[in-house]
Amino acid sequence: MKVFKFGGASVKDAAGVRNLAKIVRTQGQTAMVVISAMGKTTNALEDLVRAYTHHRTNEVQKHFGLIRSYHNSVLSELSGDFSRVHQTFAQLEAYLSKPSTAAHDDIYDQIVSLGEVLSTQIVAAYLAQTGLPTEWLDARQLIRTDTNFREGQVDWNETNRRIYQVVTGKSIKVTQGFIGQTPDGRTTTLGREGSDYSAAIFAYCLNAESVTIWKDVPGVLNADPKWFDDTVLLDKLTYQDAIELAYYGATVIHPKTIKPLQNKSIPLYVRSFLKPDAPGTVIGNSEGHLQTPSFIFKIKQVLISLHPNDFSFIAEDNLSRIFGRFAQAGVKINLMQNTAISFSVVVDNNPDRVPALLAQLKQDFRVSYNDGLELITIRYYNQNTIDRVLIHKKLLLEQKSRYTVQLVVKDLG
Ligand code: ASP
Ligand code: MG
Repeated sequence: MKVFKFGGASVKDAAGVRNLAKIVRTQGQTAMVVISAMGKTTNALEDLVRAYTHHRTNEVQKHFGLIRSYHNSVLSELSGDFSRVHQTFAQLEAYLSKPSTAAHDDIYDQIVSLGEVLSTQIVAAYLAQTGLPTEWLDARQLIRTDTNFREGQVDWNETNRRIYQVVTGKSIKVTQGFIGQTPDGRTTTLGREGSDYSAAIFAYCLNAESVTIWKDVPGVLNADPKWFDDTVLLDKLTYQDAIELAYYGATVIHPKTIKPLQNKSIPLYVRSFLKPDAPGTVIGNSEGHLQTPSFIFKIKQVLISLHPNDFSFIAEDNLSRIFGRFAQAGVKINLMQNTAISFSVVVDNNPDRVPALLAQLKQDFRVSYNDGLELITIRYYNQNTIDRVLIHKKLLLEQKSRYTVQLVVKDLG
């Protein structure tokens, strides 16, 4: 069995849904099709959660109305039996009409997960209407997680057992990316952009022959075309290179996607849904590493430097205290560097998390920070590539390993 994953951009309108159907009809007649929420629906649902948890009734109605009319406008251009979609909206409306005593992240998952439920209900109904044997599967019945809402950790044994039992037969299976369920039946999500990871979970449990992620780019490029005009398509990538690029922030694949596939040597194709006949990129057990340098840019970075108040060394005890604080605050470290009495880290400047973390750190350390920075990672760098990215930038920190250089810079405009 093949696993296909379609992201939000691929199903953002009726034309996208028709295009998906064409790809599935020609290349995936027995595929498991994993789909994200349509277009920017997840962001819209996050707005809805914010309004609901702040008890802003008018805004709740406004956001709900926008999400419903967006989906209805897609439906109106397609034929099919969309009764399930209307049921989902009725359920959401009922949920929103009552206050909830659940924790914020629990509420978030109950609401935000519905983006994927809606998109798959629409796609499955449309595929069925075109005459393809289609089965809609509820990923909440298949992917079992713990109760870590918004970042559910997969229970692999139970998930494997369920997928193995339920996913059989020759029809096209349509299911949701991004979502799972706790043992007591609460919906969880797997972290933003987690649909790629879902595809890898299904592939692992089904011993799939391959996974294909259909995207609006021709494959994995050596840089995001948002930042670079002359990007190069990488036609072949090792699992190791792919995981490193994703880890450093290449947004083309979710970083958790590679491990399950590597563990079972399942190839991952990244291909264009706009040019479905082009080969794209294949990620697998190939020999040797990339020859082309790859560039990853992260903006909105903040450099935090910590100096122990008592002039003690940055050694094991201080480090373990620092890491504990970061882990507790849920702030991921993108780069770190230390001297005898200072420790510097670069993190995404997340306004929900970083200020609280800084307040905590100030109890034990003198803290300085510098925001509005960029973190540039070059894999398989050479001096030319470094010089190229430093034009009009001030270099604040540089870290080199054999294959990777990371540069923390300030844009000089
Ligand atoms: N819809 C979710 C998100 O936007 C999951 C995904 O797209 O992979 O984060
Ligand atoms: Mg998405």
